[in-house]
Amino acid sequence: MKEIYIGAGVGGFIFLAIIGFNIVPFALLILAMGGFLYFMKTQGQLSFNNLGKGVKSQHRISFADIGGQDSAINELKEALDFLVKPEIIQHMGIRPLKGILLVGPPGTGKTLLARAAASFTSSAFIAASGSEFIEMYAGVGAKRVRQLFLDARKKAARENSRSAIIFIDELDVLGAKRGNHTSHMEYDQTLNQLLVEMDGITPDEDPRILLVGATNRADLLDPALLRPGRFDRQVQVGLPDREGRRRILSIHTRNKPISSEEVLDEIARATFGFSGAHLESLANEAAILAMRESSSTIDSAHFTEAIDKVLLGEKADRQPTRQEIERVAYHEGGHALISETVDPGSVASLTIIPRGGALGFMRKSPPDDQYLFTRPQLEKQIMITLAGAISEELVYGDRSTGARNDFNQAWQTAREIVQSGLSSLGVVSIDDVPADMLYNECRTIIDKMETATHQLLSERLPYLERIATALLEEESMDQRRFQSLLN
Ligand code: ATP
Repeated sequence: MKEIYIGAGVGGFIFLAIIGFNIVPFALLILAMGGFLYFMKTQGQLSFNNLGKGVKSQHRISFADIGGQDSAINELKEALDFLVKPEIIQHMGIRPLKGILLVGPPGTGKTLLARAAASFTSSAFIAASGSEFIEMYAGVGAKRVRQLFLDARKKAARENSRSAIIFIDELDVLGAKRGNHTSHMEYDQTLNQLLVEMDGITPDEDPRILLVGATNRADLLDPALLRPGRFDRQVQVGLPDREGRRRILSIHTRNKPISSEEVLDEIARATFGFSGAHLESLANEAAILAMRESSSTIDSAHFTEAIDKVLLGEKADRQPTRQEIERVAYHEGGHALISETVDPGSVASLTIIPRGGALGFMRKSPPDDQYLFTRPQLEKQIMITLAGAISEELVYGDRSTGARNDFNQAWQTAREIVQSGLSSLGVVSIDDVPADMLYNECRTIIDKMETATHQLLSERLPYLERIATALLEEESMDQRRFQSLLN
């Protein structure tokens, strides 16, 4: 039909030209319109097929190829159950997951996890990055989202898969809170289209679609994306600890002649704060250095030299120095020791691996939901918060800037004591308490807690030493390991 119209149009033009009609302006107009339509069509139809090709055609990634992410892998596998055992899920009437969000710093293996999930579930895999959806032309991003889902369904049909996994990296570019962008209409339309497509996923659909998103900043995402029924499962993908780094190094040196296995232990110890991507690059650089020296094996010196090379290429992402790491170990050890002293069994895990903006972290056991606190409970919280800085002082004779957030938190808790009528000021309305009176009362509470924490910690210095030494060696520890250290 299209050909008949085109033929008739061209015939008509020739006829008009023969009878002496000036067809040039019309021809130019039609050419311009055709060009514009073609441009819009190609902009909207970026095909995502090529991006996802990797899984079938190249080496399929399995969970065994990913090191240092055991808990992320376990959580992910659990969430994938509905693709692996659809009959049971249907029988139990469970609403299948539509979206899983992988949250973590760059290069920690989020893309690898998504690809391994596709292999694990025998799903078609298609990948895109949030930035690919953002164009200056209104409506193009939304069209690409539709195209992405369409491509995923087609790919699953082509590969005879009963399910498809769509991986969207940098989800925050596409899914940031609505109304925040300067050209927000286009961003909002794109995000709306993603929400519409997610809502369109049904449990009995063939192929079943699962979205896996990756981001470094889950806090930037629009709440609509995170609500139940959309990306309602979050999996943390953190930097690997020493054991994890050892595993990643052995994965990336599988095809390389290493002088001895001990070299990898040594390098894992020396690469605190490295991501999987750093370690992959490190193994590669070490092999290049060995080749340049015409050495038949890669040894410790090659790796050590490669560490500097990898770090120099990463100026923006500064690694903490050894002194800083040690200070963090005492700081976090102090928090944990006081937490255990005032509230036995309250330390869930402890790490000196940088996470988010923090250089270390102590996680308390999830308490039962608690909405009401007594003064002793709030005082204990203040002691735990102050214990980091006080440990530093006891060990080094001074404090560091690392306790800034702790102090803010301690002060807020003291304020809460006053505000709730639990201080020596008795019942007050905080708006009517003069600023200096409020300050003095908070000061008194904090000073008292500081003295008490100082006292407790100085009586337990050998324990602090033991925790910090173990932390420096192991980098992270769970509740069991922590308690065995104290016993
Ligand atoms: P980004 O957030 O920057 O997209 P990412 O978290 O998705 O990064 P990947 O693309 O999965 O990171 O990893 C990049 C490369 O780093 C991988 O191809 C792999 O070689 C290596 N790598 C990263 N993490 C791991 C890991 N846990 N185990 C083995 N290799 C890893």
